Amino acid sequence: MTKKIKYLVIHCTATPEYMPISSDMIRAWHLNNNGWRQVGYSGMIHLNGYYETLVPFDDDDFIAPWEITNGVRGINAVSRHIVYVGGCQKSNPKKAKDTRTPAQYKRLAEFVKEQTKAHPHIQIAGHNQFSNKACPSFDVPTFCREIGLAEKNIYQ
Ligand SMILES: [Zn+2]
Repeated sequence: MTKKIKYLVIHCTATPEYMPISSDMIRAWHLNNNGWRQVGYSGMIHLNGYYETLVPFDDDDFIAPWEITNGVRGINAVSRHIVYVGGCQKSNPKKAKDTRTPAQYKRLAEFVKEQTKAHPHIQIAGHNQFSNKACPSFDVPTFCREIGLAEKNIYQ
């Protein structure tokens, strides 16, 4: 049963500032370590701002079964998940920190805007708005307002 997309949820890899992370590492964590059938995100934004697809996602309004990723239990069937590399302090990797590089910030802003154009009803959210977690280590509604998003596209 395919459902209409409702949320774009932003995550961080919860890794130390400036540390490069590859898609193979994410696959190993989620598929081998966690034993999930699919990774947690449909795409990742690297430190240099490059967007890499992890699970292909077409831009129609519906989430097909093969587009579902495991970002937040309970809402995956109506969500697209993306992740930026980083989210923790370099000196204390257990501590959350907004480590987005200027290139990541820019790409994330572009991506979010593209999505609100493709899906006018979509709401942008952070993982921490659905779970008691620090991820993505910044306040997503504040970010959405910084980049001039319409209130109807900001999940509260
Ligand atoms: Zn997350």
